[in-house]
Amino acid sequence: MSRVLVLNCGSSSLKYRLFDVPAGGVDPADPAPVVVASGTVERIGESEPGAPKDHAEALAAAMAELPLDGLTAVGHRVVHGGLTFTAPALVDDAVLAAIADLVPLAPLHNPANLAGIQVARSLLPGVPQVAVFDTAFHRTLSPAASTYAIDAETAERYGIHRYGFHGTSHAIVSRRTAALLGRPVEEVNTITLHLGNGASACAVEGGRSVGTSMGLSPLEGLVMGTRSGDLDPAIIFHLHRVAGMPLDEIDELLNRRSGLVGLAGVNDMRVLLAKRATGDRAAALAFEVYCRRIRSYVGAYYADLGRLDAITFTAGVGENAPAVRAGALAGLDRLGIVVDPARNEAAECGARVISPPESPVAVCVVPTDEEWEIATQTLGVVA
Ligand code: ADP
Repeated sequence: MSRVLVLNCGSSSLKYRLFDVPAGGVDPADPAPVVVASGTVERIGESEPGAPKDHAEALAAAMAELPLDGLTAVGHRVVHGGLTFTAPALVDDAVLAAIADLVPLAPLHNPANLAGIQVARSLLPGVPQVAVFDTAFHRTLSPAASTYAIDAETAERYGIHRYGFHGTSHAIVSRRTAALLGRPVEEVNTITLHLGNGASACAVEGGRSVGTSMGLSPLEGLVMGTRSGDLDPAIIFHLHRVAGMPLDEIDELLNRRSGLVGLAGVNDMRVLLAKRATGDRAAALAFEVYCRRIRSYVGAYYADLGRLDAITFTAGVGENAPAVRAGALAGLDRLGIVVDPARNEAAECGARVISPPESPVAVCVVPTDEEWEIATQTLGVVA
């Protein structure tokens, strides 16, 4: 048996999960891994009574409570792996330096991820540490799918490229979708829709990412809780030149005060749906904008894939909001995409199909589990 600790360090939070993985191999589609312990530490670095002063203090406190004897490895979520990392990496000084080099591309995330790795390394000397990147799954994108149509030399010099994110989620969810349909992943083309606070769509051809909606950063693509997703880049020039907004303020506007919160004042889909049910017009519009954007990506990726076997909803909204699933796929019957209302609204929580039995495209709901995917990939590196 192997014991794997998975760490996900945000700028002010630390999430951890400790897994026991039975000997004899790991089934990546196994929906029921053994979780020995898990927890979240928040408010790291905030000057409140009781708040941990930094990641080192938070992690040391968490680890003191965990049964870590015989720990096989630690798996770390790292947001940005740039073009450097196409797979998970065993951490050494060169890997740490490469993650640090990518900080300009992920200024909020990579420093916190790095802090977590450094603290775990010093607290657990001798235990292999593995970095698992959100971007790595998308390194199979073709040049046509990952290239922005701007001056090629400028793009090359500044790393302007579609990197994509949520890769661990799209990876596990596309494999679980194939397992749900009882088919080898190599034969299945899927559009995975990760709809959480952040949201992204991914076109997966035979288990390989061939298109994804997030780009250089997680700002592009779908409408999110607080991020705008796609917009005309000229909006940024306009706000800067005409409204006189400094760039940092526009950055904050598009990342923190846009999306659902910008349109309707709330970023939580549950609250938005409740407001919409009371006839709130801003909430109704936000819902329509949110669903329409998903539908546009489904159409685009269907065209890219040529043949589509499944569309899968996952993460907080995707797994729990039937109204969003129905709204996003409304009117697509002629494309073979139909949501069965009774199946869609059934109070189930496991992986399931919500399209009618003989539908050409299976519409599915599949719970994601990024921590388990990180554990699996970590063991793949150290085994
Ligand atoms: P994160 O991206 O932070 O991992 P999650 O995948 O947990 O987020 O998704 C969080 C979001 O899921 C919440 O903000 C909320 O909008 C949405 N959500 C959770 N439960 C429900 C529900 N029952 N109905 C609609 N939306 C839900």
